[in-house]
Amino acid sequence: MRSVVLALGSNLGDSAETLQGAVDDLGAAAGLELLGVSSVYETDPVGGPEQPRYLNAVVLGRTSLEPSALLEVTQGIERAWHRVRDVRWGPRTLDIDIVAMGDLGVDAPDLQVPHPRAHERDFVLVPWAEVEPDAVIPGRGAVRELVGDAAGVRRTTIELRLRDRVEGAGS
Ligand code: ATP
Ligand code: CA
Ligand code: CA
Repeated sequence: MRSVVLALGSNLGDSAETLQGAVDDLGAAAGLELLGVSSVYETDPVGGPEQPRYLNAVVLGRTSLEPSALLEVTQGIERAWHRVRDVRWGPRTLDIDIVAMGDLGVDAPDLQVPHPRAHERDFVLVPWAEVEPDAVIPGRGAVRELVGDAAGVRRTTIELRLRDRVEGAGS
């Protein structure tokens, strides 16, 4: 079992509903157990074309899945929420990034862990520090200390819920 940190984002459609749906889907995935979820933050887009604001959140859990299998799970959930891959860093209904998996380092063509840009993104660092104040990004340092000015990151009153896992729905 490894701890896992996932970053969720949405800026198309009903983003609050999509984020809750993604949390439910992640919670139902075999081999992945959710342990915590941050507040939802409204954040100004960073990079990419001009686009609406995002809602972002961070989910903590633990998993028996190998990194590539976890990526398949997260990409399957993105597809289920009608994610269309279009412009790089463009608007999307749902983005799920694998931010960290314990102290594991992965450097494959389709997967890098820790996520190579998480340490410079306040929209990941701020919600992560909220749910895991002492978190560290392997090779980068303490999450709390990596947070920048956080100017474009605003906590909302939207709350995501971890639902009880339905018996028999996987382990
Ligand atoms: P960014 O990675 O800068 O946040 P993005 O999330 O918009 O950009 P996507 O289009 O969602 O990028 O993903 C592009 C590819 O990134 C995916 O197909 C996946 O193979 C790869 N990838 C590499 N590392 C990771 C990771 N840690 N988590 C999720 N996807 C990753
Ligand atoms: Ca991303
Ligand atoms: Ca992504």
